Amino acid sequence: MTTPEENGPCPHCSAEPGEPHRQWDDIARCYYTGIQLIQCGWHPDDEYEIDMYERQLYKAAHPLGVCAPSIWDGEYPGTKQCRELGWYTDPKSIWGYMEDLNALAYAAHFGKWDVEHQKWTLREEAKKAGEKYRER
Ligand SMILES: [Zn+2]
Ligand SMILES: [Zn+2]
Repeated sequence: MTTPEENGPCPHCSAEPGEPHRQWDDIARCYYTGIQLIQCGWHPDDEYEIDMYERQLYKAAHPLGVCAPSIWDGEYPGTKQCRELGWYTDPKSIWGYMEDLNALAYAAHFGKWDVEHQKWTLREEAKKAGEKYRER
């Protein structure tokens, strides 16, 4: 995984920092759920099956009924939060020393997306999961 140059445009859709992603590229997250947009995104009119429970969760999370692309802040999503948490990869690993985005993604399963602040709320359980993942 490459980290784009800080404060440059999104390497996929060229959105400038502070602008929403212009396409549903794979860097864009869903503004409402923090999930990768291409994974979160389905439209209520979509043909394929989705159970009622998931449908209700989706509706509750998306006030306008559909996903919206997150704002590109000049860095790969989650990078800033990894720095806040002090989560970096082992300098001896294949990635070298960088923000541990995989640990954050893992911890996020146990956390809750904070729409207002566009970051994951990680309580103790989620942080512990992330720390445990980091020991892998
Ligand atoms: Zn983009
Ligand atoms: Zn969404």
